[in-house]
Amino acid sequence: MTDTSRTSSGVPAEPGHDEAKLEFTELDWRRFIASLGENPDRSGLRETPMRVAKAWKHWASGYGQDPAEILKVFEDGAERYNELIVVRGIPVYSHCEHHLAPFFGTATIGYVPEGRIVGLSKLTRLVDCFARRLQVQERLTSQVAETLMHELQPKAVGVIIRCRHLCMESRGIRTPGEETITSAMLGELQTNLGMRAELLALAREK
Ligand code: ZN
Repeated sequence: MTDTSRTSSGVPAEPGHDEAKLEFTELDWRRFIASLGENPDRSGLRETPMRVAKAWKHWASGYGQDPAEILKVFEDGAERYNELIVVRGIPVYSHCEHHLAPFFGTATIGYVPEGRIVGLSKLTRLVDCFARRLQVQERLTSQVAETLMHELQPKAVGVIIRCRHLCMESRGIRTPGEETITSAMLGELQTNLGMRAELLALAREK
């Protein structure tokens, strides 16, 4: 649970990865493959360092994005709307900062607008912007909530994220398929327990 008094919109954008950096990581991945005892020159692996470097450029592309910019254009039209707007099933694909292993699942975002509303595509992009960084699920959850609170200034924001973590599942610490659930409730959702229960129930439904 996060504190409403914080107005930060999360981690600031960082400059994108340039080609020189990509080439460097390509060499690094070649070294990594060799360190596994593999021959990086065998045909199946020859292109792998470049492919991995390119894949990571995508998986880390959130560092080059400004979350405030994503939410800049919003629509008016909810002046008299005083109920929760809930969007479920927003895809989450991220990597844990402890093992660089994927964690993935879905996000549920609920908010009570103060005049301004945002489209589904923007919520998806906002989640991507923070998910395409090295993350822990708890921080991802609060960054999405705090950015929405800061940029949209709604009466309430709640974010619930459910993910499977391959670093835990694949190493047998957890039961396969088990989900980690995190939530951040801001504004009226901190005090309105009925609204909070409604949102949590909606997020639980498959
Ligand atoms: Zn991990």
